[in-house]
Amino acid sequence: MVPFLDLKAATAELEPEITETLSRVLANGWYVLGPEVEAFEAEFAASVGSQHCIGVGNGLDAIELALLALGIEPGDEVIVPANTYIATWLAVTQIGAIVVPVEPDDRTNNIDPDRIEDAITPRTRAVIAVHLYGQPADMVAIRAITARHGIKLVEDAAQAHGASVQGRPVGSLADASAWSFYPSKNLGAIGDGGAVTTSDRAVAEKVRILRNYGSQTKYVNEALGVNSRLDEIQAAVLRIKLPRLSTWNLRRQAIAERYSDELQDVPLRLPASDERGRHVWHVFVVRTNERDALQRHLTARGVQTLIHYPTPPHLQQAYAHLRLRPGTFPISESIHRECLSLPIGPHLAREQVDDVIAAVRSFSFTSGSRDTRRSA
Ligand SMILES: *Cc1c(COP(=O)(O)O)cnc(C)c1O
Repeated sequence: MVPFLDLKAATAELEPEITETLSRVLANGWYVLGPEVEAFEAEFAASVGSQHCIGVGNGLDAIELALLALGIEPGDEVIVPANTYIATWLAVTQIGAIVVPVEPDDRTNNIDPDRIEDAITPRTRAVIAVHLYGQPADMVAIRAITARHGIKLVEDAAQAHGASVQGRPVGSLADASAWSFYPSKNLGAIGDGGAVTTSDRAVAEKVRILRNYGSQTKYVNEALGVNSRLDEIQAAVLRIKLPRLSTWNLRRQAIAERYSDELQDVPLRLPASDERGRHVWHVFVVRTNERDALQRHLTARGVQTLIHYPTPPHLQQAYAHLRLRPGTFPISESIHRECLSLPIGPHLAREQVDDVIAAVRSFSFTSGSRDTRRSA
């Protein structure tokens, strides 16, 4: 049996340190926004080359608070990828702003910079770039567009801890960057957690106030804030894991290389890697028009796979009111129809990777389904 992702293994590797840390936090008696959070914020900011980090409750809140702190208001238009996890859209919707979806580059699955400009109107206030599947979006091109139009740029870096563009870490490439530390992310807590990183002091101050009831001084409320705080246990565990992140990402990369080499001759579309950015392989997504049959075959062979994601946001019931019919975003829709995520993670053993490769190779692809449009 090859599990999609073995979260217990990451905890087991660090068991003595985690146990010791939990005892320290328990004994301390300070459980929310305390010394562990403060230390983690400093360490994480340094690791992404950002001036400030503000720990929050989860990744969705991180995007919302980043948008609010950048001054995005109800009725403002925010450009989002059509192809993303729904959280990117929900953050915009929940602050009363309007999502303006833009199709991805079919090769990288990330928002297509060439299509952003066409979507800009006088009401556009921001673009959210998502580093989907762990691959950085084309931040150089996107930055040039947002700068030219005087609009804000937000990174949704929830799948890209440790990724970089031309040597510069994601999390430092926008006006504000949002992170999730949901357990299955490349840097995951043992519960919910999130953060905003920014090098703009005023934005950092706003997020800091908004996350805690709009208050800096207890019982003095200067803004309509929310309750979205990071707790001490999550911060303490994240501090233990952060120094391991680059080693863990290297293991993911090695597995991705094996899949790419050893499945090269199989009629599957393998992920394209944009050589300008460092991909951290949050998930390894292949594409085939025989997706469902391949998934059933792998399940029968004991290989667990997932689909990231089965339905694009514009076709979800939650966004039915936007009346975006099937066919509105054909590139996104075909990705959702064809994508399948193979097991990948820092604790996947060599033999398990062998098993996945053998299981994929043993599937009888219908002849003619070969799609050779892989990486350029
Ligand atoms: C996980 C994720 C989020 C949301 O993070 P939560 O901590 O689950 O709220 C946002 N955007 C993307 C792209 C994600 O993968």
